[in-house]
Amino acid sequence: MPSETTRRTSDIPEKGLPQNTIIQELEEKLQRDLTYSSGKILCSMCTNPTSFAKQIYRKYLEKNLGDPSLFPASAELEQETITMLGSLLSNPKASGSIVSGGTEANIIALWAARNLAKKERGEVIVPFSAHYSFDKASDLLNLKLIKVKLNRRFQMDVKAAEKAITSKTVAIVGVAGSTGLGVVDPIRELSEIASAHNIYLHVDAAFGGFVLPFLKELGYKPFDFDFRLPGVCSITVDPHKMGLAPIPAGGILFRDAKMSEAVSMKVPYLSGGEMKQSTLLGTRSGASAVAVWALLMHLGRAGYAAVVERCLRLTWKLVEGIQRIDGLDIVTEPTLNVVGIKSDRTDVRLIFQELRKRGWAVSLFLDYLRIVIMPHTKPSHIKRFLEDLQRILEELNS
Ligand code: PLP
Repeated sequence: MPSETTRRTSDIPEKGLPQNTIIQELEEKLQRDLTYSSGKILCSMCTNPTSFAKQIYRKYLEKNLGDPSLFPASAELEQETITMLGSLLSNPKASGSIVSGGTEANIIALWAARNLAKKERGEVIVPFSAHYSFDKASDLLNLKLIKVKLNRRFQMDVKAAEKAITSKTVAIVGVAGSTGLGVVDPIRELSEIASAHNIYLHVDAAFGGFVLPFLKELGYKPFDFDFRLPGVCSITVDPHKMGLAPIPAGGILFRDAKMSEAVSMKVPYLSGGEMKQSTLLGTRSGASAVAVWALLMHLGRAGYAAVVERCLRLTWKLVEGIQRIDGLDIVTEPTLNVVGIKSDRTDVRLIFQELRKRGWAVSLFLDYLRIVIMPHTKPSHIKRFLEDLQRILEELNS
């Protein structure tokens, strides 16, 4: 038997180790991970959950929504959560589930659209800016993705979308808060097209779903994107992004229960075979749903509006700072708390590398740098980031 000191990292220890030893080892091993609190993470759409949400999540870890016959109260709380999210998105009658994230939500939406359409070799029309989860969904569901060009404002080109419709189209997808630039597609026009052609319209508001509902009251330009538009059949909205919930917590909302029925399956071995599931996962976290419920109740609309207000104020502070740096500009005026930075004279890949050397995590997206200003970002982080950016530009151009 190998001793502790000769233990290979691939071995489960023959004899269990004391908790303190393990905790210490974990602290050491996980040190290389970045932390939200350092302010260095400027590329994530997730954030540090509130301490209240963490407390609730920890307390209810054992709950399994995969078997509501054992956890009926948790299942009821999940449905209350969906109703609250539905009312945030203008449809308290929405049905749906708290799922593992935006990817699962988007897969479930296209799964429902495919089953409802009952077409052979179905096609789904998405903008070029769509999240890659739609590529996964199309591969899994045997659907062909038709990627449509963007207009000058980086939104889905509506005319191109309409032209792409064929007898095989099972769904159109609009994005309300794109991953790359936080852009909102013209969902009102997409809704009209979808209704006219009797095609399923899914809106991916994984990120924007917790931001867009508050823009009007905060004095920013509002966008139509939710169930108020009659063509919208389903919406992805992720509590583990701007909803401040612990990972995993995504949300899939359908206009009505008929749509979610399209993906429901009986579970043969639970509740006498009468229980149905409408998610991709079987066993799934009840703690996630309960934590989202608790957060919605605790922060309320006003709490979320304040979070959005702070992120947007900081976003504009960042934009002003970028525009003051010689050789840098923004890709497009931000709609949400996502900013693209471009340069006409310096290779952004070099800027990216220099930022990394200084510990900043931003994304390199096509030919620009992408920054997401999340609730963990503070004014002091933006100040330091802009100072480093200025210095890097000077060094690279000297
Ligand atoms: N949709 C959009 C618009 C996103 O930005 C993302 C992730 O950033 C997703 C879907 C996928 O979400 P997740 O990573 O939670 O699966």
